[in-house]
Order: sequence, then C-alpha cells, then structure tokens
Amino acid sequence: MEEKTIQIAGSITVDELSKALGLSVTELIGTLFKNGIVATINQRLDFETASIIIEELGLKNVKLERKNTSTRTSNLHRELSDKAVARPPVVAVMGHVDHGKTTLLDTLLHKKTVDDEAGGITQHISAYQLEHDGRLITFLDTPGHEAFAAIRQHGAMLTDIVVIVVAADDGVKPQTIEAINFAKSANAKIIVAINKIDREGADVQRTMADLSNNGLQPEEWGGDIIMVPISAKMNQNLDKLLDMILLTADIEELKADVNIPAEGLVIESHMEVGKGSVVNILITGGELKVGEFIVAGSTYGKVRTMLDYKGKPKGKATPSTPVTITGFKELPNFGDRFEEVKDEKTARKMALLNAQALANESADANVTSSDLLRMMNVADNTKTFNVIVKGDVLGSVTSVVDSLRLIDTKGEITLNIVSTGVGDINENDVYMAAGENTVIYGFNVSVPINISKMAARDHVPIRIYKVIYELLDDAKHEMENLLDAEIIEEDKGELKVLGVFRTEKTSIIAGGEVLTGDLKPGYLARVVRNKTYLGEVEVTSVQKEKIDVKELIAGETGGLALKTANKIDLEIGDRLKFFTRETKKRTL
Ligand code: GDP
Repeated sequence: MEEKTIQIAGSITVDELSKALGLSVTELIGTLFKNGIVATINQRLDFETASIIIEELGLKNVKLERKNTSTRTSNLHRELSDKAVARPPVVAVMGHVDHGKTTLLDTLLHKKTVDDEAGGITQHISAYQLEHDGRLITFLDTPGHEAFAAIRQHGAMLTDIVVIVVAADDGVKPQTIEAINFAKSANAKIIVAINKIDREGADVQRTMADLSNNGLQPEEWGGDIIMVPISAKMNQNLDKLLDMILLTADIEELKADVNIPAEGLVIESHMEVGKGSVVNILITGGELKVGEFIVAGSTYGKVRTMLDYKGKPKGKATPSTPVTITGFKELPNFGDRFEEVKDEKTARKMALLNAQALANESADANVTSSDLLRMMNVADNTKTFNVIVKGDVLGSVTSVVDSLRLIDTKGEITLNIVSTGVGDINENDVYMAAGENTVIYGFNVSVPINISKMAARDHVPIRIYKVIYELLDDAKHEMENLLDAEIIEEDKGELKVLGVFRTEKTSIIAGGEVLTGDLKPGYLARVVRNKTYLGEVEVTSVQKEKIDVKELIAGETGGLALKTANKIDLEIGDRLKFFTRETKKRTL
C-alpha cells in the first residue's frame, strides 16, 4: 500500500481529513459516530483525535505529522552573514539537586561582581554576566532551568554551553543524566564541573569513571569532554572553569549579526506595580535600544526602560546580553521569541497575526482527544487530577505547568489545570480547589496563615516547593493514588467435586479430589460446570480424613468448607478452579 503523510497544523476539519485520506465524508463521519462523536463536515479534530480515528479505520499506511505553525519555536540559529561579530557564550548550569549549582552561581557572582554593588541585586535574576580575562560570559539562571523538558518544549535552545555540576562525593545521579541528555538534545557543548572536591569522600577519578559510563568521556582519558575539579564553596579552581568556558567559546567561534533588527528570547516575565510588565530577555541578534518596538508572541510594546542584570540603565543591548525591559502591553511567555519591528503599527499587526496562529493551533479544535476518549468509554475509569499552580514568576508557573503536562499518566488520568497565577496562595485559590482530587501547588511562594487555616478547614491540600522535581514527584504520587490498583491473579490448581454434604446460603461443605496443583485454606475458586461459570467461592478450611490440614496436593482427596457471597448449588462433578488474588498499588 502506498505510504501517505498528512500534515496537521493544530487541527483539521472532517472535510479536510476525509479528502486527505481519500475517503467519503460520510464514511469518516460514520467512523466518528461509531466512536461516539456526532461530527459535522466542518468540525475540527485535533491531532490526537485524527490519529485515533486513522487507527480505528485500520489505515496503517497513513502517517500523521504535526506541522509547526508556532511563532514560538522559530529557529534561533539563523544563518550568519560575513559581518557577524564574536559574542559572549551563553552558559547554563545544570545538575542533580544539592550538587552545588546555586553555590557555584553565587560564588561566581560574588567573586566577579563583588565590588559592583552585587548586594544591590534584589530582583529575581534570571541571567547575569561575568567578566573573566576582560571577556564576558553570560550565565542563565532561570527557574525554568530545572525543567529541562519544558524548556525543550518551548524551543528555547539558547544555551551554547551547559556546565554540568556533579558532586565528587555523590557521582552521577538521575538529574545528572537528564542534564546530559538535555545538553545533547540542545546541541550545547558540555563542560563538567566536578564539585565539592574539598569534601572528605570526594573522589574525582571515580566521578570521572561514573561520567564515562554515562557517555561523557573525559578529555584527560582521551575523550572530548572537559572536566574541571572545583569547590564552589571554597572558591577553588573556578578560574580554570571560566578559562575552559572561554576556550570552548573560542573553539565554537560563537558569533552574531549586529546589523539586523534585534531579536532574542524571553527568559522571565512578571508584573510589577507601577511598572507593568517587567520582562527579562536575552538578545540573540541585532542591538536593542530604548524606544524601539518589539513583538513577542501575541504581545507587543515599545521598550520603555532597559536595565542590565545589576539594575543599571542601559541604552543598548548587544547579542548574548540579558536585559530587563518594561513596555510590553501584556506579559509574553517564557521561551517566546521576540523581534524588533519598525513601528507600532507593524508591531500591533504582527502580534495579532501571531495570536491568530496560536489560536488556530489549539483552541480551534472543538473535538479533542480527551473528548474522544471519554466518548469511546475507554475513559470510563479515567480520573481527573485537578491542580492549581502558583509561582513566584511567570517563568516558573509555565515550567511547572509544562512539566506537569509531561507526566505520563498512561491515559488513565486526566490532568486538569484549574488555574495558574503569579503570587502567594490566596483565598480564591482555596475556593477554586474545594472540589475532589484538587491540589494547590506553589512554587517559591508562601501561604499566609489565614489562607492556610481556611485550606485546612476545607480540606484543601496546599503544597509548596522550591525544587520543581519534588513538586513533580508529589503530583505523580497524587496521580498514582488515583489509579485503580492492579489485580494479580495466580492459578493454583483444580478440584473435582465428589460429594456435597451441606449447602447453605453463604457456605458449602463438600469433598473432592485435587486434580492439579494444590489446595490451601484462603484460596479463591471459580465454580465451573460444563464450561459454565457458576460463581466464586473462598476456601475457608481444608480437611484430610476429617482433620484440618494446611494443604491438599494433586491426587489427594479431602473435605473443604467454602464461603460464598450468593448461594451456589454445588453438584458432584463440578470443578473448582483455585487461584489467589492480590491487589497491587500501581505506579506511573
Ligand atoms: P543545588 O541544589 O545544586 O543548587 O546545590 P546547592 O548549591 O544548594 O548546594 C547544596 C549543598 O552543598 C549546600 O549545603 C552547599 O553549601 C553545599 N556545597 C555546594 N558546593 C560545595 C562545595 O564545593 N564544597 C562543599 N563542601 N559543599 C558544597
């Protein structure tokens, strides 16, 4: 059969899908109908629904592909002109929790900027720059950094170099591996900082062997990964680490064009009283100046103020520079690409077009896969886990929500994001959460005492986390609790009834011969007569020659007492098929 690929940009109408499949509209509507969906010719189906329907139709030769119309995932690594100039490397620090990421960033920040009113940095820093050997290095420190998956989803491949911090006394851990995978998928260069070498128990060689077993071959051993032993806390060897970052940047020949309209990525955004939207951006090309017009996703604005990471006014920002700007009419999203345009009219128009494109992508589909699953009854036992997500800044809320959505619930649990917001947990959140299976998650926010009392009264769980993985683990755990337990049955053998001595409403005394397996008190049994199932019984006791025994094995005859829920008129010749049944909590 001829292979066929159908591209779907967000959603597709019944009419379009039928044409693409070469089916009549009625046939397609019929299939939808069989699956519980009453569709019209103009109904839009989302990607998942279309996939399910194609599977239902048995069209194995048809492949669906998502067509990317997103304005958010534009390619950042544009072709450079021959006028491109060198730019500072953009570095992200990643690694397992407690291995020393924060300490490293703090020490670097103080080491290099201590004279420079570093104490004055009170705002939430999502990126900053250091000077080393007269050259700049940009470090990213967005809350979203811990949510690699979410960053990937946003297409925010803005890091040139990932410094993976591994504690020399702990070795490679799950998040170390995630960091390695992230760096690889983002096509970033990896430098490993083997941290905590001041500690007793630190073993650099063993850590290197551990890394090497996880696909990172140390340069020292003939591989291609630079590994620098450091102590972030004791400020040991950090200059060497910075040297290696610059060396890597040189080898990579990182460049950007400056004679193009400014462009870059939103790395943080939040609202501030009196200032409106306060947005941290990283310039990836061109030069941005105060007064210029910019568009990011569906919002636009005029750069009103621009500050560097220290909070000092800056007139112009060049590539790889993080700056905080005000002037966007609405909050852009973390990971949104922004670009400079020539005037307000163009900015408004582009924002509108982007908004429409985004709306077409998702909101337009009026049949979604969850509707379909619900209607197909597959989801009869699907449970809904409701969450409210609050975070200190928009970036963290986005990361948490995206990461929650990525938890694989094996199709059995629907995650319903009731609401999201920036700021502390408030009364409204508790009101909204007063339903079944609802948890309020706070990321880096607090719970005022009165709200906490109110939540306790209404039995609304509030969970506050500072580490996204812990939050995600909690959510996963909550969802696991909603899963139906797994039932494991194991066959134990069979008995032929040779005599029935007493039959009461809920108990039977009988005798028989064990044909296969063994028979023990506590087993369950299915009663079968000529292949007809009569009911289930429980074996309460087993006797051999009128004495209670622990088991009867194949070939032996004996008596047994059975318990039933409903009366069963057992007869000679009936078979009892023994089994045990266990319920096991399931995990995701
Ligand atoms: P993160 O979770 O990766 O950001 O880790 P932190 O930076 O919060 O560090 C976790 C703990 O390890 C803290 O108690 C730090 O003081 C400690 N720590 C970090 N770096 C070093 C180091 O180089 N030497 C020692 N001895 N302790 C360190």
